[in-house]
Amino acid sequence: MNLSTFNKLGLGVIVLCWGFIIHDKVNFRQKVDKQFKPFVAAYYEFLKEVCPFKYKNQTSNYTIKFDHGDDQWIGLCEPSWNGYVIHIDKDFWDNSSESAHTQLIFHEMSHCVAFREHVKDESHYMNPIFYVLPYKQMLPQLKTDLRNYCNDR
Ligand SMILES: [Zn+2]
Repeated sequence: MNLSTFNKLGLGVIVLCWGFIIHDKVNFRQKVDKQFKPFVAAYYEFLKEVCPFKYKNQTSNYTIKFDHGDDQWIGLCEPSWNGYVIHIDKDFWDNSSESAHTQLIFHEMSHCVAFREHVKDESHYMNPIFYVLPYKQMLPQLKTDLRNYCNDR
């Protein structure tokens, strides 16, 4: 099993997320800490590639910011009054690899942008227990999720 650095330290960390979003708003605004921007941009590139229509019609406002999960969570997505907020645990972020950063942002954005839920498969990036997966393994999973989102009504 491919354990993340964090898990090797003996800190089994659960990614708790919920993602039922108010989603009929007019203005699409982003408030994203600069450390998250490359990963957010990469996610949107994939969305644009897989589903240009949904990409162009993103309407939820959202914020991505650092927070403290206190070993309870490393990332979570919650609805707010006009969109959603993604919280990222600062300690985890500061002590994990770029691969982990990518996967964590993609996981949370798949909840909040593409409305995907958790899966039981431990080798899937939408499993609630966070293991860093090889990018080549995660990418097709992400694209499948984006394709499914594209086909959602
Ligand atoms: Zn999750």
